[in-house]
Amino acid sequence: MTAYDTNNIFAKILRGEFPCHKVYEDEHVLAFLDIMPRVPGHTLVIPKAPARNILDIKPDDYAHVARGAHKIAAAAMKAFNADGITVQQFNEPAGGQVVFHLHMHVMPRHDGVAMLPPASRKEDVKVLEENATKLIAALKAG
Ligand code: 5GP
Repeated sequence: MTAYDTNNIFAKILRGEFPCHKVYEDEHVLAFLDIMPRVPGHTLVIPKAPARNILDIKPDDYAHVARGAHKIAAAAMKAFNADGITVQQFNEPAGGQVVFHLHMHVMPRHDGVAMLPPASRKEDVKVLEENATKLIAALKAG
C-alpha cells in the first residue's frame, strides 16, 4: 500500500496550515465540516495520529475515531432535527477514498431526502459557519 503522505490536506488542517470549520477536538481526534457537504451538517472525524486509512491505522486509533463519530452523530441528530445518520468511511481509491488521511463521514439524514453525490459543490462559508455553530451548541448541551 502507498505510504502515508504528510502533505495531504487533512494533515495540513491538523497542523493548522489550512483552515477548517472545527466542531470538536480532543486528544485523539478532530471533527470539522466537509467543504462539499452531501447533506447539511456533513462532518468528518479524523484521527490526530497519521493514518492513510483502515489498512494502516492502529486499532485503538480507529476506536477513537469511532467514538468521535458516535459523539457527532448524537449531536447532529439534535442540531439538524434529523431522522437518521449515515456514517461512511472509504479506503483506497477502489474503496472510494479521495483524501488519504483516514476519516469517517457523519451525515445527518431526513426522511425522503437523498444525499448529493460526492463533491457536488462547495458550500458557502456562511452556511458552514452556521452549521458548525449549531453542532457546537448541541455538543455543549450534551
Ligand atoms: P473520501 O476520501 O472519503 O472520498 O472523501 C473526502 C472528503 O473530503 C469529501 O467529502 C470532500 O468533500 C472532503 N474534502 C476535500 N477537501 C477538503 C478540504 O479541503 N476541507 C474539507 N473540510 N473537506 C474536504
